[in-house]
Amino acid sequence: MQFKQDFFEQLVGFYSQVYPLPISNPHWLGWSDDAAKLIGLQKPNDELLMQLSANYAAPGASYYAQVYSGHQFGGYTPRLGDGRSIILGEAIGPNGAWDVALKGGGPTPYSRQGDGRAVMRSAVREFLVSEALAALNVPTSRALAVIGSDLPVWRESQETAAITVRLAKSHIRFGHFEYFFHSERGDTGKLTQLVNFTIQQHFPHLSADAAGYKQWFHEVVQSTAKMIAHWQSVGFAHGVMNTDNMSIIGDTFDFGPFAFLDTFKEGFVCNHSDHEGRYAFGQQPAVGLWNLKRLAQALAPIIESNDLIVALNTYQAALVKQYLSLMRAKLGLPQPSSNSNILSEAAQVKQDQQDLHLVGQLTVLLEANQLDYSNSLRRFGQVDPNRSDSALRNDMIDVAGFDTWYKAYQDRVGEVADVDVWQGNRNGVNPKYILRNYLAQEAIIDIEESGDNRKLLQLQQLLSRPFDEQPEMEDFAKRPPEWGQGLIMSCSS
Ligand code: AMP
Ligand code: MG
Repeated sequence: MQFKQDFFEQLVGFYSQVYPLPISNPHWLGWSDDAAKLIGLQKPNDELLMQLSANYAAPGASYYAQVYSGHQFGGYTPRLGDGRSIILGEAIGPNGAWDVALKGGGPTPYSRQGDGRAVMRSAVREFLVSEALAALNVPTSRALAVIGSDLPVWRESQETAAITVRLAKSHIRFGHFEYFFHSERGDTGKLTQLVNFTIQQHFPHLSADAAGYKQWFHEVVQSTAKMIAHWQSVGFAHGVMNTDNMSIIGDTFDFGPFAFLDTFKEGFVCNHSDHEGRYAFGQQPAVGLWNLKRLAQALAPIIESNDLIVALNTYQAALVKQYLSLMRAKLGLPQPSSNSNILSEAAQVKQDQQDLHLVGQLTVLLEANQLDYSNSLRRFGQVDPNRSDSALRNDMIDVAGFDTWYKAYQDRVGEVADVDVWQGNRNGVNPKYILRNYLAQEAIIDIEESGDNRKLLQLQQLLSRPFDEQPEMEDFAKRPPEWGQGLIMSCSS
């Protein structure tokens, strides 16, 4: 790995230097070739294993933990910071630099009561989901590897520690800006410095002046909206959308008790500690805006309130636009760009509303009929819109309700010229395989019980090609068995 140290060198006072502590008997549990390529690495080797398990120093690494704060479940915590993630620096890759962080690398000045470690099950889950989301084309941080150990750690019972090697284009969170706003009231020096750095590193097309700041916040609103639209389209529930877990570049970030929907349920809550359902699946779009408002408050000293509000007001439309585009592709509804006669603005708005309604009605049907979200969408690869019977119909209990929906759907899709091509396109955007909680759980149990990581590797391989038929892996596309239904994860990771 070849590092540069822009954050470390330019943002003194925004982090604490801290060395990671080794984990004993380190071994690769997982390695992502795809993530490795991003930073110019090929295959894992022993030297790298020793470096990434903190047993040897990595040449060129700086080792630091960033300070930030954030709103957690609606309440402000004035100081959080990296309690168990230690950044080595920005590794230079063929297409840009990626922060390399050891998540679970040991205590830092921000650990509070925590031990600075990650348990194997949570490290494995973060590794798997990072790479699975990337393969689904959802903006996300990545995971180079997950390293197991025999270091004991205590949660509800004794477990073993592991490290996820996280790659992120940025570790800067909404909570960074909140920290320097709330802690340095009146003095905007550090806040401005952080905004300038963020723009220079991640929004290089913008200038570090008033006009640039305004446009920058607009782009943050847009990318956050797009990220959440992606989540809603693939049925992903993040679980802990605290502002300290929101990346400033709109990547899915900091995975805890996340889950993909099995049975579609708007009110699905994946986080055991989320008693009020604040971060329920269907709440995510609204929470994204709430979080952006907290960010806007922190930026108010350096960006005109009116400009912040104008940008916030673009959120909903941006989210709906992205969501509609993704869902139109999934259902095979014509995209606006493919209309042979371009619609007037008013007609397009009407069309959008109708399509949104059609999509919404489908999810209502899925929920009422207790159907699996991903598998139901995958069915569109077998639907022939030219015919009145359809593969989906057989899954429904409320057949009459479905028939009404399907009629409206057929009208909208129109006559399909080449059904094979149409169905192939549906299969190219509706995954056959997603990271169901029970699958991750099975892989974790194997490792816990006998150190056997073969299921983990198999799952990782499978999820790197989520849209491809993989006949020998058919079982992995199934809905969860009874024990794996509605698995709810705790935050004790
Ligand atoms: P999270 O909910 O994982 O995003 O974590 C919220 C905050 O708690 C962050 O500041 C983390 O760094 C910190 N934290 C979580 N787990 C630990 C741990 N085991 N040791 C120290 N800090 C932790
Ligand atoms: Mg976090």
